[in-house]
Amino acid sequence: MHVPFADIRRQHLSIRREIDAAVRRVVEQASFISGPEVDAFEEAFAEAAGARHVVSCANGTDALELALHAMGAGPGDEVIVPALTWISTAEAVSRTGATVVFADVDEETLLIDPEDVERRITDRTRILLPVHLYGQMAPMPELAALAGQHGLAILEDAAQAHGATLHGRPPGAWGRAATFSFYPSKNLGAWGDAGAVVTDDGALARAIRLRARHGQERKHEHLVEGRNSRLDGIQAAVLSAKLPHLDRWNELRRRHAARYDEALAAIETICTPARRAGARHVFHLYVVQTDARDALCEHLSSAGICTAVHYPTPLPFQPCYRHRGYAPSDFPAARRASQRILSLPLFPEMEQREIDHVVSSIRAFDHA
Ligand SMILES: *Cc1c(COP(=O)(O)O)cnc(C)c1O
Repeated sequence: MHVPFADIRRQHLSIRREIDAAVRRVVEQASFISGPEVDAFEEAFAEAAGARHVVSCANGTDALELALHAMGAGPGDEVIVPALTWISTAEAVSRTGATVVFADVDEETLLIDPEDVERRITDRTRILLPVHLYGQMAPMPELAALAGQHGLAILEDAAQAHGATLHGRPPGAWGRAATFSFYPSKNLGAWGDAGAVVTDDGALARAIRLRARHGQERKHEHLVEGRNSRLDGIQAAVLSAKLPHLDRWNELRRRHAARYDEALAAIETICTPARRAGARHVFHLYVVQTDARDALCEHLSSAGICTAVHYPTPLPFQPCYRHRGYAPSDFPAARRASQRILSLPLFPEMEQREIDHVVSSIRAFDHA
């Protein structure tokens, strides 16, 4: 039996008519860039995300860069990001001219470790940039306390956490802003690249929008030199059609995750994902840890099961940061995790028999 890692096609087929109608609307209006579909999605997403303002943009990496820039990050500033995340989190910092400072992660949750963050704060630190990794929110109360003590701002990278909450509060309610990606495989995915920043801060939203739209508030008046980072009409229409399903899809992810949790609990060599108290985890990824990661991965592959590793090399050890000269002992938890983590197939449309096949294959491996 073949079990895909994720299957965007299944989701598409399940709501095909709604999507087709939405795309047809865009084509008939010829509103390919900006226009009513983009405005409508921004409004709907603000409501869903519980934020006052949403600024849509071209992708989640731009969302980070635009937000950091508007928050004042620039040359001479340091921004603290987790060692275990997708490269965008760090790239966006460097694009503003600020310096990326990596902090290690908690070895159980794999989320940024506030104690290590505190050790890395200097006179130049301006912003903390936690990532709500795999769909679980970072330790925001602890980070907010640190930010308060040291006069820092917080930006949340919520690219993997549409619909997540911590103590009932969503991304963006903890920091000055949160950024989302709508890359096709994210919990809410477009038909291409798309992203957004959410914030309750009207002045910040205005600054982000200004920069993302060539510095224009009125046509042909460029208040600042900006850039071009826009959501297109087709992506907005697809996202608007999918948004009403997001809660249900997240519930399905959570249900599948609970089934994995229960079935894998008895297997001593496998650690199921640690959950923080008070967190609504939306399982963008279901990541287990085991010392036999590579062998398990191969075993599952021979049983027709696709898995992945997020991420095999912590950012400080990537070639692009080699000049920093980090040693494995600088980020011991991220380093160890990167050798033990395995993302199992998990997507809303997954069938019970597929989950059963993954579970029984892991059991067979454990007994071998
Ligand atoms: C996907 C992702 C991004 C970037 O999103 P794009 O839309 O691909 O630019 C940023 N941060 C994290 C943690 C992500 O997973």
